[in-house]
Amino acid sequence: MELKVKKAEELKELPEDESKLGFGKYFTDHMFIMKYNVENGWHDGKIVPYGPIELDPSAMVLHYGQEVFEGLKAYRRPDGKIQLFRPQENFKRLNSSNDRLCIPRIDEGYSLNALKKLIEIDERWVPYSEGCSLYIRPFIIATDAHVGVRAGNEYLFVIILSPVGAYYPEGLNPTKIYVEELYARAIKGGTGMAKTGGNYASSLKAQDEANKQGFTQVLWLDGAEKKYIEEVGTMNVFFILGDEIVTPSIDGSILPGITRKSSIQMLKHWGYNVVERKLPLEEVVAAYENGTLKEAFGTGTAAVISPIGLLKVGETEMVIGDGLIGDVSKKLYDNLTDIQWGRSEDIFGWTELV
Ligand SMILES: *Cc1c(COP(=O)(O)O)cnc(C)c1O
Repeated sequence: MELKVKKAEELKELPEDESKLGFGKYFTDHMFIMKYNVENGWHDGKIVPYGPIELDPSAMVLHYGQEVFEGLKAYRRPDGKIQLFRPQENFKRLNSSNDRLCIPRIDEGYSLNALKKLIEIDERWVPYSEGCSLYIRPFIIATDAHVGVRAGNEYLFVIILSPVGAYYPEGLNPTKIYVEELYARAIKGGTGMAKTGGNYASSLKAQDEANKQGFTQVLWLDGAEKKYIEEVGTMNVFFILGDEIVTPSIDGSILPGITRKSSIQMLKHWGYNVVERKLPLEEVVAAYENGTLKEAFGTGTAAVISPIGLLKVGETEMVIGDGLIGDVSKKLYDNLTDIQWGRSEDIFGWTELV
């Protein structure tokens, strides 16, 4: 399949100060778009100037939320070259989200090539400052002009790029989270394992209430029994209990994070005892009470590693590791980010040049 390129006639001005990039505020000069219909399958993939997309007001995604997305980053290496971190994993996951949402699968190789070409064209947008990167947002929406519930027959696949700032401009800051007791994010058989907007729409209320109470995120328990730990907001979660590092197993309602997978591989490589299993909240509380809860952290592309300094369970506030970042969390953060930004040798073969 060919890839057409239509360049923008005028290029935007780059954001002046990379320390003020923030997250998801600026977008580059170009984007990738590709259409799907029943007759032609995925077709007409092209790179075009960044800009609004036209949708019929009856476009199905606007009514029934048939959508999937991904999130990954491009990093500027010390030698000036640009690299991606495990991008095949993202396109593979996009296809498994597609399967769950009844969206036709994309060609992973073609899409990764299109992404590389897009980054090449918008190369000047990849930041140079420490901790900054180019966030990549691929997404697919159902575009049929049709009101009535069914899977779409027409889709649009888009990739947009956004230069983003350092997640921790003042160093790794442990977060405060609480265990969500009222709302549920996902249940087995639902869409928790897919990266789809609906999961986020249904979690906004909990996030909003957490923020109002001065917490960063909520810790989700399983939706059925409210007994087992699942995820933190937009991240997977790890607990160090005695000499065991535990993360909830991927069993249908948890998003299989690529940072999670990489963290497990790295920790195992260092000889840590990492276990993927069901983790009852009760067990974490008991470990806190008997002094064996050593560290807790979230993993995700945006923050990489996010230490949890305080976890509130009911009325009990558990301060973890004196509210400071733990040694394992720090080591993992340093080593993952060194590989991502190309500051150290990539012994796992995770990175790929653009
Ligand atoms: C994207 C996402 C994650 C993290 O996945 P990464 O591949 O590590 O970025 C975790 N949980 C949810 C719900 C997500 O959407």
